[in-house]
Amino acid sequence: AAKARGRNQYCFYEKTLDVEQEQLMEMLAMTQEALEAQNLVMYYQPVVTRPAPSASPEQGVIGFEALIRLQHPQRGLLTPAVFAEALDHPRLARRIGCFVLDAVLSQGEQWHQAGLPLRLSLNISARHLLDPEFLNDLQCALAAHPGIAPAYCEIEVTESAPMLDFQKAQETLQHCNALGLRIALDDFGTGNASLSYLQKLPAQTIKIDQSFVLDMLNDPRDFAIVAGVVKTARMLGLEVIAEGVETVGHLQLLEALDCPALQGYLFAKPMPAEAVPAWVKAFNIINYIGNSAAPRNH
Ligand code: C2E
Ligand code: MG
Ligand code: MG
Ligand code: MG
Repeated sequence: AAKARGRNQYCFYEKTLDVEQEQLMEMLAMTQEALEAQNLVMYYQPVVTRPAPSASPEQGVIGFEALIRLQHPQRGLLTPAVFAEALDHPRLARRIGCFVLDAVLSQGEQWHQAGLPLRLSLNISARHLLDPEFLNDLQCALAAHPGIAPAYCEIEVTESAPMLDFQKAQETLQHCNALGLRIALDDFGTGNASLSYLQKLPAQTIKIDQSFVLDMLNDPRDFAIVAGVVKTARMLGLEVIAEGVETVGHLQLLEALDCPALQGYLFAKPMPAEAVPAWVKAFNIINYIGNSAAPRNH
Protein backbone atom coordinates (compact mmCIF):
# COMPACT_ATOMS: atom_id res chain seq x y z
CA ALA A 1 0.00 0.00 0.00
CA ALA A 2 2.85 2.37 0.84
CA LYS A 3 4.45 1.63 -2.52
CA ALA A 4 1.23 2.30 -4.37
CA ARG A 5 1.04 5.74 -2.80
CA GLY A 6 4.35 6.62 -4.43
CA ARG A 7 7.93 7.11 -3.38
CA ASN A 8 7.53 10.34 -1.46
CA GLN A 9 4.74 8.98 0.62
CA TYR A 10 6.85 5.93 1.43
CA CYS A 11 9.78 8.06 2.58
CA PHE A 12 7.48 10.18 4.68
CA TYR A 13 6.09 7.06 6.32
CA GLU A 14 9.54 5.73 7.15
CA LYS A 15 10.56 9.03 8.66
CA THR A 16 7.47 9.05 10.86
CA LEU A 17 8.46 5.66 12.23
CA ASP A 18 11.97 6.92 12.89
CA VAL A 19 10.66 9.94 14.72
CA GLU A 20 8.38 7.78 16.80
CA GLN A 21 11.21 5.39 17.60
CA GLU A 22 13.42 8.27 18.59
CA GLN A 23 10.75 9.77 20.84
CA LEU A 24 10.29 6.42 22.53
CA MET A 25 14.03 6.12 23.17
CA GLU A 26 14.12 9.65 24.57
CA MET A 27 11.21 8.94 26.84
CA LEU A 28 12.82 5.75 28.12
CA ALA A 29 16.09 7.57 28.75
CA MET A 30 14.24 10.34 30.57
CA THR A 31 12.45 7.83 32.78
CA GLN A 32 15.60 5.89 33.56
CA GLU A 33 17.37 9.13 34.42
CA ALA A 34 14.53 10.10 36.71
CA LEU A 35 14.66 6.72 38.42
CA GLU A 36 18.38 7.03 39.01
CA ALA A 37 18.17 10.66 40.13
CA GLN A 38 15.34 9.75 42.52
CA ASN A 39 12.97 11.96 40.59
CA LEU A 40 10.20 9.39 40.48
CA VAL A 41 7.71 10.16 43.24
CA MET A 42 4.46 8.68 44.45
CA TYR A 43 1.26 10.68 44.70
CA TYR A 44 -1.74 9.41 46.63
CA GLN A 45 -5.43 9.61 45.82
CA PRO A 46 -8.10 8.69 48.39
CA VAL A 47 -10.74 6.00 48.02
CA VAL A 48 -13.74 6.86 50.18
CA THR A 49 -16.98 5.28 51.30
CA ARG A 50 -20.26 7.07 51.39
CA PRO A 51 -22.21 7.28 54.61
CA ALA A 52 -24.79 4.60 54.02
CA PRO A 53 -26.02 1.54 55.89
CA SER A 54 -23.95 -0.74 53.68
CA ALA A 55 -20.74 1.11 54.44
CA SER A 56 -19.31 0.55 57.87
CA PRO A 57 -19.62 3.84 59.75
CA GLU A 58 -16.02 4.15 60.88
CA GLN A 59 -14.75 4.13 57.31
CA GLY A 60 -14.74 7.55 55.71
CA VAL A 61 -11.44 7.08 53.94
CA ILE A 62 -10.85 3.48 52.91
CA GLY A 63 -7.34 4.06 51.73
CA PHE A 64 -5.21 5.62 49.04
CA GLU A 65 -4.08 4.55 45.61
CA ALA A 66 -0.42 5.25 44.95
CA LEU A 67 0.14 6.84 41.55
CA ILE A 68 3.58 7.45 40.09
CA ARG A 69 4.81 10.83 38.92
CA LEU A 70 8.02 12.00 37.27
CA GLN A 71 9.49 15.20 38.62
CA HIS A 72 11.25 16.65 35.58
CA PRO A 73 13.83 19.40 36.16
CA GLN A 74 12.47 21.49 33.26
CA ARG A 75 9.04 20.13 32.41
CA GLY A 76 7.72 19.88 35.95
CA LEU A 77 5.56 17.10 37.33
CA LEU A 78 4.67 14.54 34.65
CA THR A 79 1.90 11.92 34.87
CA PRO A 80 2.16 8.42 33.38
CA ALA A 81 0.39 9.75 30.28
CA VAL A 82 3.87 10.89 29.22
CA PHE A 83 5.89 7.80 30.21
CA ALA A 84 3.41 4.90 30.37
CA GLU A 85 5.43 2.69 28.03
CA ALA A 86 8.41 2.90 30.38
CA LEU A 87 6.34 1.36 33.19
CA ASP A 88 5.92 -1.83 31.18
CA HIS A 89 9.20 -1.83 29.30
CA PRO A 90 11.40 -4.95 29.63
CA ARG A 91 14.39 -2.91 30.74
CA LEU A 92 12.59 -0.71 33.27
CA ALA A 93 9.40 -2.41 34.49
CA ARG A 94 11.03 -4.38 37.28
CA ARG A 95 13.26 -1.55 38.45
CA ILE A 96 10.36 0.88 38.56
CA GLY A 97 8.15 -1.76 40.16
CA CYS A 98 10.70 -2.31 42.93
CA PHE A 99 10.96 1.42 43.48
CA VAL A 100 7.16 1.67 43.79
CA LEU A 101 6.95 -1.29 46.19
CA ASP A 102 9.61 0.15 48.44
CA ALA A 103 8.39 3.75 48.29
CA VAL A 104 4.76 2.90 49.02
CA LEU A 105 5.38 0.32 51.73
CA SER A 106 7.86 2.66 53.37
CA GLN A 107 5.31 5.49 53.30
CA GLY A 108 2.55 3.18 54.50
CA GLU A 109 4.73 2.01 57.36
CA GLN A 110 5.34 5.60 58.41
CA TRP A 111 1.62 6.39 58.37
CA HIS A 112 0.78 3.26 60.33
CA GLN A 113 3.43 4.10 62.92
CA ALA A 114 2.00 7.63 63.13
CA GLY A 115 -1.47 6.25 63.91
CA LEU A 116 -2.89 6.45 60.38
CA PRO A 117 -3.76 2.86 59.47
CA LEU A 118 -4.41 3.50 55.79
CA ARG A 119 -4.87 0.85 53.16
CA LEU A 120 -2.60 1.42 50.18
CA SER A 121 -3.12 0.27 46.62
CA LEU A 122 -0.23 -0.19 44.24
CA ASN A 123 -0.41 -0.52 40.47
CA ILE A 124 1.66 -3.45 39.26
CA SER A 125 2.66 -3.60 35.60
CA ALA A 126 1.93 -6.80 33.69
CA ARG A 127 5.64 -7.11 32.94
CA HIS A 128 6.61 -7.04 36.61
CA LEU A 129 3.74 -9.29 37.73
CA LEU A 130 4.84 -11.92 35.20
CA ASP A 131 8.54 -11.52 36.02
CA PRO A 132 9.99 -14.63 37.74
CA GLU A 133 11.40 -12.33 40.44
CA PHE A 134 8.12 -10.58 41.24
CA LEU A 135 7.12 -12.58 44.30
CA ASN A 136 10.63 -12.32 45.63
CA ASP A 137 10.61 -8.55 45.10
CA LEU A 138 7.28 -8.32 46.87
CA GLN A 139 8.36 -10.41 49.85
CA CYS A 140 11.59 -8.44 50.21
CA ALA A 141 9.64 -5.18 50.25
CA LEU A 142 7.18 -6.53 52.82
CA ALA A 143 10.03 -7.82 54.99
CA ALA A 144 11.80 -4.47 54.80
CA HIS A 145 8.67 -2.69 56.07
CA PRO A 146 7.17 -4.79 58.85
CA GLY A 147 5.29 -1.74 60.16
CA ILE A 148 2.56 -2.24 57.57
CA ALA A 149 0.68 -5.53 57.54
CA PRO A 150 0.10 -7.15 54.14
CA ALA A 151 -3.66 -6.95 54.78
CA TYR A 152 -3.35 -3.17 54.34
CA CYS A 153 -1.79 -3.58 50.92
CA GLU A 154 -3.71 -4.07 47.75
CA ILE A 155 -2.20 -4.71 44.38
CA GLU A 156 -4.05 -3.43 41.34
CA VAL A 157 -3.72 -5.40 38.14
CA THR A 158 -5.27 -4.77 34.77
CA GLU A 159 -6.34 -7.45 32.37
CA SER A 160 -3.11 -7.21 30.41
CA ALA A 161 -1.17 -9.65 32.64
CA PRO A 162 -3.72 -12.50 32.53
CA MET A 163 -4.16 -11.82 28.82
CA LEU A 164 -0.44 -12.40 28.26
CA ASP A 165 -0.07 -15.46 30.46
CA PHE A 166 -3.18 -16.49 32.30
CA GLN A 167 -1.77 -19.33 34.34
CA LYS A 168 1.28 -17.42 35.51
CA ALA A 169 -0.84 -14.41 36.46
CA GLN A 170 -3.33 -16.59 38.31
CA GLU A 171 -0.62 -18.43 40.26
CA THR A 172 1.19 -15.22 41.15
CA LEU A 173 -2.00 -13.58 42.36
CA GLN A 174 -2.85 -16.65 44.43
CA HIS A 175 0.56 -16.32 46.06
CA CYS A 176 -0.13 -12.66 46.76
CA ASN A 177 -3.40 -13.60 48.44
CA ALA A 178 -1.58 -16.25 50.45
CA LEU A 179 0.84 -13.55 51.65
CA GLY A 180 -2.19 -11.63 52.88
CA LEU A 181 -2.42 -8.94 50.21
CA ARG A 182 -5.65 -7.91 48.58
CA ILE A 183 -6.05 -7.93 44.82
CA ALA A 184 -8.01 -5.44 42.76
CA LEU A 185 -8.98 -5.81 39.12
CA ASP A 186 -8.25 -2.34 37.73
CA ASP A 187 -9.94 -0.68 34.73
CA PHE A 188 -12.58 -3.37 34.95
CA GLY A 189 -14.68 -3.77 31.84
CA THR A 190 -12.18 -2.39 29.33
CA GLY A 191 -10.45 -5.66 28.47
CA ASN A 192 -11.90 -8.45 26.46
CA ALA A 193 -12.23 -11.16 29.08
CA SER A 194 -13.43 -9.33 32.17
CA LEU A 195 -16.13 -11.72 33.25
CA SER A 196 -14.07 -14.86 32.86
CA TYR A 197 -11.24 -13.22 34.84
CA LEU A 198 -13.70 -12.31 37.52
CA GLN A 199 -14.67 -15.93 37.69
CA LYS A 200 -11.16 -17.37 37.70
CA LEU A 201 -8.78 -14.87 39.30
CA PRO A 202 -8.50 -14.47 43.05
CA ALA A 203 -9.67 -10.86 43.47
CA GLN A 204 -11.25 -9.00 46.38
CA THR A 205 -11.96 -5.71 44.63
CA ILE A 206 -13.27 -4.55 41.28
CA LYS A 207 -12.44 -1.06 40.09
CA ILE A 208 -14.97 0.13 37.53
CA ASP A 209 -13.09 1.94 34.80
CA GLN A 210 -13.49 5.69 34.79
CA SER A 211 -14.64 5.72 31.17
CA PHE A 212 -17.95 4.13 32.21
CA VAL A 213 -18.40 6.39 35.22
CA LEU A 214 -17.49 9.63 33.44
CA ASP A 215 -20.17 9.10 30.81
CA MET A 216 -22.89 7.41 32.82
CA LEU A 217 -25.04 10.54 33.07
CA ASN A 218 -25.19 10.92 29.28
CA ASP A 219 -25.02 7.39 28.01
CA PRO A 220 -27.59 4.89 29.27
CA ARG A 221 -25.36 2.03 28.18
CA ASP A 222 -22.55 3.24 30.44
CA PHE A 223 -25.04 3.62 33.24
CA ALA A 224 -26.28 0.07 32.68
CA ILE A 225 -22.72 -1.27 32.76
CA VAL A 226 -21.90 0.54 36.00
CA ALA A 227 -25.15 -0.66 37.58
CA GLY A 228 -24.48 -4.21 36.42
CA VAL A 229 -20.92 -4.30 37.72
CA VAL A 230 -21.97 -2.91 41.12
CA LYS A 231 -24.67 -5.57 41.37
CA THR A 232 -22.40 -8.37 40.17
CA ALA A 233 -19.72 -7.38 42.67
CA ARG A 234 -22.24 -7.39 45.50
CA MET A 235 -23.52 -10.82 44.53
CA LEU A 236 -19.96 -12.14 44.38
CA GLY A 237 -19.14 -10.59 47.75
CA LEU A 238 -16.47 -8.34 46.23
CA GLU A 239 -15.66 -4.76 47.07
CA VAL A 240 -16.37 -2.40 44.20
CA ILE A 241 -14.82 1.00 43.63
CA ALA A 242 -16.09 3.49 41.05
CA GLU A 243 -13.21 5.44 39.51
CA GLY A 244 -13.51 8.85 37.87
CA VAL A 245 -16.13 10.34 40.20
CA GLU A 246 -15.85 13.97 39.11
CA THR A 247 -19.22 15.56 39.79
CA VAL A 248 -22.03 15.58 42.32
CA GLY A 249 -24.15 14.11 39.51
CA HIS A 250 -21.87 11.09 39.35
CA LEU A 251 -21.97 10.78 43.12
CA GLN A 252 -25.76 10.92 43.30
CA LEU A 253 -26.16 8.27 40.65
CA LEU A 254 -23.60 6.01 42.34
CA GLU A 255 -25.38 6.50 45.65
CA ALA A 256 -28.64 5.50 44.01
CA LEU A 257 -26.89 2.34 42.84
CA ASP A 258 -25.59 1.75 46.37
CA CYS A 259 -21.99 1.71 45.15
CA PRO A 260 -19.99 1.46 48.36
CA ALA A 261 -16.64 2.98 47.41
CA LEU A 262 -15.64 5.95 45.30
CA GLN A 263 -12.53 7.55 43.88
CA GLY A 264 -12.20 10.69 41.82
CA TYR A 265 -11.46 14.38 41.51
CA LEU A 266 -14.71 15.23 43.32
CA PHE A 267 -13.03 14.09 46.53
CA ALA A 268 -9.39 14.78 45.74
CA LYS A 269 -6.84 14.70 42.98
CA PRO A 270 -3.72 12.64 43.61
CA MET A 271 -1.65 14.52 46.22
CA PRO A 272 1.89 14.37 47.56
CA ALA A 273 2.40 12.18 50.63
CA GLU A 274 2.89 15.21 52.88
CA ALA A 275 -0.66 16.35 52.18
CA VAL A 276 -2.28 13.04 53.16
CA PRO A 277 -2.53 13.29 56.97
CA ALA A 278 -4.20 16.71 56.84
CA TRP A 279 -6.55 15.56 54.09
CA VAL A 280 -7.63 12.52 56.08
CA LYS A 281 -8.29 14.69 59.10
CA ALA A 282 -10.26 17.28 57.12
CA PHE A 283 -12.28 14.66 55.30
CA ASN A 284 -13.28 12.96 58.49
CA ILE A 285 -14.38 16.32 59.86
CA ILE A 286 -16.07 18.00 56.89
CA ASN A 287 -17.33 14.69 55.56
CA TYR A 288 -19.08 14.12 52.25
CA ILE A 289 -20.36 16.62 49.73
CA GLY A 290 -23.31 14.42 48.81
CA ASN A 291 -25.06 13.60 52.06
CA SER A 292 -23.58 16.54 53.84
CA ALA A 293 -26.59 17.20 56.07
CA ALA A 294 -25.38 15.15 59.01
CA PRO A 295 -21.69 15.22 59.88
CA ARG A 296 -20.45 11.73 60.46
CA ASN A 297 -18.78 10.79 63.70
CA HIS A 298 -16.16 8.10 63.50
P1 C2E B 1 -5.26 3.78 37.05
O1 C2E B 1 -4.59 2.80 37.92
O2 C2E B 1 -6.58 3.38 36.48
O3 C2E B 1 -5.36 5.10 37.93
C1 C2E B 1 -6.44 6.00 37.88
C2 C2E B 1 -6.09 7.20 37.02
O4 C2E B 1 -7.22 8.05 36.92
C3 C2E B 1 -4.99 8.08 37.61
O5 C2E B 1 -4.28 8.64 36.52
C4 C2E B 1 -5.79 9.14 38.33
O6 C2E B 1 -5.07 10.34 38.54
C5 C2E B 1 -6.93 9.33 37.38
N1 C2E B 1 -8.12 9.88 38.01
C6 C2E B 1 -8.51 9.77 39.29
N2 C2E B 1 -9.69 10.36 39.51
C7 C2E B 1 -10.08 10.86 38.33
C8 C2E B 1 -11.24 11.62 37.91
O7 C2E B 1 -12.15 11.93 38.67
N3 C2E B 1 -11.31 11.95 36.59
C9 C2E B 1 -10.31 11.62 35.71
N4 C2E B 1 -10.46 12.02 34.45
N5 C2E B 1 -9.22 10.91 36.07
C10 C2E B 1 -9.10 10.55 37.36
P2 C2E B 1 -2.69 8.72 36.52
O8 C2E B 1 -2.18 8.99 37.90
O9 C2E B 1 -2.29 9.64 35.42
O10 C2E B 1 -2.25 7.25 36.16
C11 C2E B 1 -2.60 6.68 34.93
C12 C2E B 1 -2.32 5.21 34.89
O11 C2E B 1 -0.93 4.96 35.00
C13 C2E B 1 -2.95 4.44 36.06
O12 C2E B 1 -4.31 4.20 35.81
C14 C2E B 1 -2.10 3.19 36.05
O13 C2E B 1 -2.54 2.30 35.06
C15 C2E B 1 -0.74 3.73 35.65
N6 C2E B 1 0.09 3.92 36.87
C16 C2E B 1 0.04 4.92 37.77
N7 C2E B 1 0.94 4.74 38.75
C17 C2E B 1 1.57 3.58 38.47
C18 C2E B 1 2.62 2.84 39.11
O14 C2E B 1 3.12 3.18 40.18
N8 C2E B 1 3.03 1.68 38.50
C19 C2E B 1 2.47 1.25 37.33
N9 C2E B 1 2.93 0.11 36.80
N10 C2E B 1 1.49 1.92 36.71
C20 C2E B 1 1.03 3.07 37.27
MG1 MG C 1 -5.04 1.72 39.50
MG1 MG D 1 -8.18 2.29 36.78
MG1 MG E 1 -6.53 3.47 33.79
